[in-house]
Amino acid sequence: MEIKRPMLARTLAHCQTPTWKRELAEAYRRPGELIAHLSLDKRLLTDALHSDAGLRMLVPRPYAALMEPGNPTDPLLRQVLPAADESIDRPGFSIDPVGDLAARRTPRLLQKYRGRALLLVTSACAVHCRYCFRRHFPYKDENTATAASGALALIRRDETIVEVILSGGDPLILDDEPLRGLIAHISDIPHVRRIRIHTRVPVVLPSRVTAELCELLADARPKLVMVIHANHPRELGAAVPVALSRVRTAGIALLNQSVLLRGVNDRTQILSELSEALFANGVLPYYLHLLDRVQGAAYFEVDTAEAARIITGLRNSLPGYLVPRLVREQAGFAYKTPVC
Ligand SMILES: *Cc1c(COP(=O)(O)O)cnc(C)c1O
Ligand code: SF4
Repeated sequence: MEIKRPMLARTLAHCQTPTWKRELAEAYRRPGELIAHLSLDKRLLTDALHSDAGLRMLVPRPYAALMEPGNPTDPLLRQVLPAADESIDRPGFSIDPVGDLAARRTPRLLQKYRGRALLLVTSACAVHCRYCFRRHFPYKDENTATAASGALALIRRDETIVEVILSGGDPLILDDEPLRGLIAHISDIPHVRRIRIHTRVPVVLPSRVTAELCELLADARPKLVMVIHANHPRELGAAVPVALSRVRTAGIALLNQSVLLRGVNDRTQILSELSEALFANGVLPYYLHLLDRVQGAAYFEVDTAEAARIITGLRNSLPGYLVPRLVREQAGFAYKTPVC
């Protein structure tokens, strides 16, 4: 019997599940498994099980491997393990802290700033960060192909949009083929000069940064910028430099943004080491964000005075280009507002 080619291709594809997909499928989704893997006190489990409503735990194993066993205050663990403190309700913390809903121009397209429009490519991520400012975003309302093509049509009509930011969720969670299609589509819009990818994938799931992915990104006509998201120097584990070097080799500019998080990176020394480690990998520090005041994340907040003290410490010890800009996102402003 003759085997039709598409069927053969599908069969082969199934045998060769890429490493990153396997790693994503095997990610820790049950707090109990992660707690056991790190030999932590089972009391943490009770908290975790009561706290993950609305944002299930998701931790890829390569990221968990960078955590210190037996340490309940590990800065990587703290970013991803549901905590009892998430139920603290503090005034000023809301489900739409940065005015995303008001900035929606059409389903899946946000625009707050001149020249730059942000496309919500997917709601999925490779990790679930407890402090995520979009943890309550109503993706479900607009998760359709129609929304995506409507958003692209708007970008095509509006010649003032010169930079398209791929965000989500995490755009690099998409398969190569839909990503290739999207990039080709945007490349075909003459007034778009830059495509920017905001992603935590190179840090938490570096195996996703395959040679094929970098090739398809390098094919884009507009200039490509990738903004990764690392918060702590220990996140740049062994496989991360390899991924970043691939991205650089593809001619893509690399920047990093961090969120200032209590109990994670709220010390000058840690952020200084992060800047050094990033630069050693060809990545420039871009923003250090004050926490977006999203409901459930109050326990991560560092106050402005403390943040200013930390950034002054960085200025005192690093060259200017290794000091990230300390900013706060405020709904209704024309740019991310500098702090101090
Ligand atoms: C943060 C953000 C941007 C990017 O701002 P830059 O200052 O250019 O980095 C663009 N659009 C939206 C909706 C944003 O939230
Ligand atoms: S990777 Fe980004 S979008 Fe996804 S959960 Fe973390 S902070 Fe939120």
